[in-house]
Amino acid sequence: MLIYIEKQARDYPQTKKILEKFKNSQVIYINNYKNIFDKNYTNLNSKKALIVAKLNSNSVSEAPAWYGHTKNALFFKTSLNCIYDCSYCYLKWAFKNENMVVFVNYEDIKREIDEKIKMSEFDWDVWFYSSDYSDILWMDWFSWFCEEFIAFFEYLNLSPSGAKYPQGDRGIFMEIRTKSWNIKPLLDLWFVPKNTEIAFSLNPQEMIDKYEKWTSSLEARIVAINKLLDLWFKVWLRFLPLLPVKNYEKIYWDFVNELNDKIDFCRINSTFASGLLYTKKDYNKMLSKYPDLDILHMLALDNDWFYRESKKVRDNFYKMFKDLDNRCILCLEN
Ligand code: SF4
Repeated sequence: MLIYIEKQARDYPQTKKILEKFKNSQVIYINNYKNIFDKNYTNLNSKKALIVAKLNSNSVSEAPAWYGHTKNALFFKTSLNCIYDCSYCYLKWAFKNENMVVFVNYEDIKREIDEKIKMSEFDWDVWFYSSDYSDILWMDWFSWFCEEFIAFFEYLNLSPSGAKYPQGDRGIFMEIRTKSWNIKPLLDLWFVPKNTEIAFSLNPQEMIDKYEKWTSSLEARIVAINKLLDLWFKVWLRFLPLLPVKNYEKIYWDFVNELNDKIDFCRINSTFASGLLYTKKDYNKMLSKYPDLDILHMLALDNDWFYRESKKVRDNFYKMFKDLDNRCILCLEN
């Protein structure tokens, strides 16, 4: 494996742990990760390289209102790019090459999250989404994200620091979204987290085979879900993106029935469904890069300025998932 290490990231404890983990790797020290990551090129051996860097810009950004559970939500990043290869993923055009970046200055990122909360006037629960730039759970074996950030979010809600944290029943929560069965980092924790939900993205196996290359099988994810439920973890199921392929109604009804048979929904903390959806700008970028990706041609510009499935198709999907769990939240739907 090839590892690029930014010189300014060299002395961080995380960097040392990564080097210990990948003892036999070729290591190249670089001045700035963007010199590698922001270039259009393919690695000589055509395998993805790992880039270890220090994040000097903001980690936290605002999510659209009502993106998920509540009005207030934020994204934060500790890494960029993903080992998986989902055909519809916006990362495919967002970054210039497929190398993965891990930022190792975790304490700076935690400080930024803390500051963001102190400076904001939140009336609702606040959700931090951690996995919009990579599959955090998959890569935990060399990023140690869970032990660092799950513990941090437990502490945040206890902090008597005088910050304007949400009061009463409100709190600060993190979501880890994944398509991986790798729950070892969660099982290795010394506590069961109250403020982190593990959100499994699920789709029928037929869709996984066709559009979600390298991700864990549906069966493996269901086993992981049931194991976490047995240990009282908060588990969230995300049915997304729902894909309106030929025969989608049969495929998805079979899927819903399979989930109903294999998962006890009374123990699932929350569920969430969404069709495939892009802003106009993102859609045009995807289309110009992947003109033959069939699912892109199943979308149209809606009057909310998103490219998405028709309202009729979305309603068909939502009926299935409301039948499965009537608490199911619908993404960006009035
Ligand atoms: S798992 Fe998520 S982040 Fe990774 S390629 Fe698929 S959609 Fe993108």
